[in-house]
Amino acid sequence: MHGTRERAYECLHITDVDRDRSAIARAGAVLRTAGLVALPTETVYGLGADALDDTAVRRIFAAKGRPADNPLIVHLATIDELDRVASSITPLARSLAEQFWPGPLTIVVDASATLPSVTTGGLATVAVRVPDHDVARAVIDASGVPIAAPSANRSGRPSPTTADHVAADLGDDIDLLIDGGPTGLGVESTVVDARGGIPVVYREGALSREVLGTVRLDDAPSAPSPGTRYRHYAPACTVEIVQAE
Ligand code: AMP
Ligand code: MG
Repeated sequence: MHGTRERAYECLHITDVDRDRSAIARAGAVLRTAGLVALPTETVYGLGADALDDTAVRRIFAAKGRPADNPLIVHLATIDELDRVASSITPLARSLAEQFWPGPLTIVVDASATLPSVTTGGLATVAVRVPDHDVARAVIDASGVPIAAPSANRSGRPSPTTADHVAADLGDDIDLLIDGGPTGLGVESTVVDARGGIPVVYREGALSREVLGTVRLDDAPSAPSPGTRYRHYAPACTVEIVQAE
């Protein structure tokens, strides 16, 4: 953080969901009242808000400087909440969710009409997953709502894998930072469209596509995953790629 400057947000250390129950309840309450909460997942730190509250979701876009047509991934505590955000769930979506959740697989399905269009970037579909992280699931459960959460970095910058990264990048814009230690994977989730008969990979990520069986790759320039159009993962320093040999 920046010298002696006062911190504008609350910080909670949560590593043990049984022991840290009051902190989890607090985080849930902040989310329920349109707050912005940075939280650890198994991939990277997410910037979470109530996915059903368009004012809260707009704050995510403002904090990140994220283009409005780049939709957010909605995070659930359990697979049972899928029909709160989806209008129809194909057999493929159901089977992928059962096989890979909790985990780093994001599944695109038809969106429920109750989801604000700001969450889905104006699309009729929604991207959704259950994170494989006890703290994330406990906080989502405590909030009682589905949580929209892109990575907790300014748009275009690398994704944060520690609470310190989040503080440095977004400290001025969040209400609460949950420090749950470094994230395990450090890479975003794999995004697949499951509305048809086979998964269409929109974005490669932490779940390798080999384990999904037969897939179709969608890497056309007009790719329907809007986020892949934008500049990503740009560090603030020179990067040198060194060959192993
Ligand atoms: P992130 O910014 O890491 O949270 O990435 C979310 C990714 O999921 C971006 O590439 C989004 O464009 C993509 N995504 C989210 N919702 C949808 C959707 N409904 N259809 C296609 N891609 C989506
Ligand atoms: Mg991101």
